[in-house]
Formats: sequence, C-alpha cells, structure tokens
Amino acid sequence: MLNAIQQQILGAINAADGLSRTELAQRCGLSKAAMSGIVREMLEAGYVQESAIVAGQGQGRPSVLLRIRAEGAYFIGVSLLQDPAQLVLINLNGDILSRASFPLSREPQQLAQSIAETLPLLLTSHPQIASQLIGMGVTLSGFIDEHQAVCVQSALLGWRDVPLARIIADATGMDVFIENDAKALAVNEKRFGLARDLNTFTLVSHGAGIGNAHFIGGNLLRGLHGGAGEIAHSTMEVNGTPCRCGKRGCLDTLASVNAILEMAREEGLSISTLAELEQLAMSGSTAATRILHRAGSALGLAIAHLIQIIDPDLILIAHQQQAFDGLLGTVVLQSIEANVLPGIAGQTPVRTFSINQDTWARAAASIAAHRFLNGLNTH
Ligand SMILES: [Zn+2]
Repeated sequence: MLNAIQQQILGAINAADGLSRTELAQRCGLSKAAMSGIVREMLEAGYVQESAIVAGQGQGRPSVLLRIRAEGAYFIGVSLLQDPAQLVLINLNGDILSRASFPLSREPQQLAQSIAETLPLLLTSHPQIASQLIGMGVTLSGFIDEHQAVCVQSALLGWRDVPLARIIADATGMDVFIENDAKALAVNEKRFGLARDLNTFTLVSHGAGIGNAHFIGGNLLRGLHGGAGEIAHSTMEVNGTPCRCGKRGCLDTLASVNAILEMAREEGLSISTLAELEQLAMSGSTAATRILHRAGSALGLAIAHLIQIIDPDLILIAHQQQAFDGLLGTVVLQSIEANVLPGIAGQTPVRTFSINQDTWARAAASIAAHRFLNGLNTH
C-alpha cells in the first residue's frame, strides 16, 4: 500500500503527465531533499520512472521528469452492461493488456462464478503480473452504495440491495469495488482520459439509456443514495410519455437512443438505428428531422441545467459510434447554447467521444486504479 504522501505524488504525476522533483516538492509542500528521498523509494518500488530531461526555466538547471510506471500495478475491469459481459486487464497507465468475455447472468452467485472462471484467461499471456494485481472494478447500470460494495438498485439486472462486491470477492479472492456505469466512465476520464487535469467536470453518456456523473473539486459526486446526477429521470415534460421508472416525461423518454428509435417506429419510419434515422433526416424526412430535433433539444436543455448548477470546466458527452455526427449532435449543442444564461453561454467547452467495445470494462478497471491511487483499496 502507498502512504498518503506517495498517493499524493502519484496522483499529481498522473494528472500532470509527468513532473520534476522540484515541481513535486512545491506541490506537496516538502523540501527538495525530502522529496528526493520519497521519490527514490517510489522508484525502487516500481511505481514511477524517470523520463525525458526538460530544460529548466530561465537560469534553472535541466530536470528529469517523473512519470507513472505502467508496470507498477495492474487492475481488472468487468462490465455488466453488455451480454456477453466484458473483462479487461489494465496497467497503471490505463492501457488494456488483454480481454475476455463470458455470458452475462442476472444471478449474482453465477455471475461471480463466471468471473472467477474467466479471470485466468486474462492472465495467460501475462503470468508474471499476478503478484501485482491490485484489485477489480465492476460496472453496471444502477445505484451503488457509498462503499462501492452494494448494488442498491438496478432495474436492468432486477437487483435490490445485492452485496455484489463481497460475492465476487469471495469467488475470486480479489479486492472488488462496484460502480454505476456513468460514474465509472467519469473516473476513467479523470484518471486516464480527457479530464486528467480537471477537478470539476460533468460527463453525460448517451446510449440505450442516459447516464450522468460529476467530479466536483477533484471528487466524484455520489449523493446520499449514490444517485447524484441522475438526469435520465429528471422530468423534462410534465405529464409526458410514461417512463420505465414509473414517472412521466423523463429525459430518458425523450432523448435516449431507445426512445428515439421508439418514436421513429411510432411514426412508421422503417429504420433500426440512429444512423439510419439521421440518413432519413438528411434526405428530407420531416418526421425524422422532428424526432431528432425533439431529442436533441431535450438533451441540450438538460445539459444546460447541469452547466448552470455545476458550472463545470468541461462537459464530456460519451455516445455511440457516429451518434453525434449529424443533426442530433448539432441540435444538442445549439440547445445547450440557447438555454444557459447569456452571460455564460459558450463559456463551457463541450467535448464528445465515441463509446467502443472496451469503454465500459476499462472504466470498471479504472475504479480499482482510482482507489489504489487514492489509497482506498481495501473494504
Ligand atoms: Zn424515468
């Protein structure tokens, strides 16, 4: 285990993608001599490595940059968002080293058994790392408790108060932490992705459903019941379409990919993907254009609300392949601009990126990596 100052050092190096001993000493409020001693220990333990020598500023001497050593620790990620479920092995830089999958089960014991049986497949080509395997993260759609141990509720998996982390830990012998999908993805972006150097940002995931998570002041916002940032079931249309959650007019009923495809079916459009709907809109279909406008306007409005509540450094939108390349993406951006206070309109950068086959399992693994780097890796 890392001690508090070592965690602080690793976290700072991770966020800055490399720092000199002098910069580290300044950030941690230590003398250069003290920092050199700590860094020597961390070099010996294999968590950091020296890399490029950079020129000093002004009269300063050139200094050696310290970076995270990718081979310093390894983590497993399991995504329960797809069937088959996906597993990945990542290193301390978040690089995926191997992948495996198994048929998804909604029965927790069976699920844990399948993970335990599939785990060795990840390590067959990396047997030497078994001793540096720190922990496992598991991501799923649902509410997770503050200890990242119990699934409080998952409509998709039909669970209520399932102590999933303990069940999987018993089957695998590993430290296991579970996390909501959008929160896991936000952690991944903070540790390894587009938000490494940001402390306050908001992530929205757009797919079959809509997910949302926030980092505020460097910490993931969980809320009392793990439900912070649940915009999917915010009412956007009073007395609107019934939602699977039991309410009416939720954002999910207006803007999720499932809702968009459902609206297209109701309009009698013979399409089965968002890309086909975009194509129809391009070729002049007013129904397709109207559906995409309605969905994009609602999603943009919800994001505008988030901007006004949080005032984040960045909005990240994770979406299905090509889902934001056409009209939907354009309308979302216009709707954000149109609905934030004029004084802050255009001030919040919005970046979009595509979800791929690896995204959720890597996000799951980043949960374990994040806990390790924060020194929180045991229950
Ligand atoms: Zn709802």
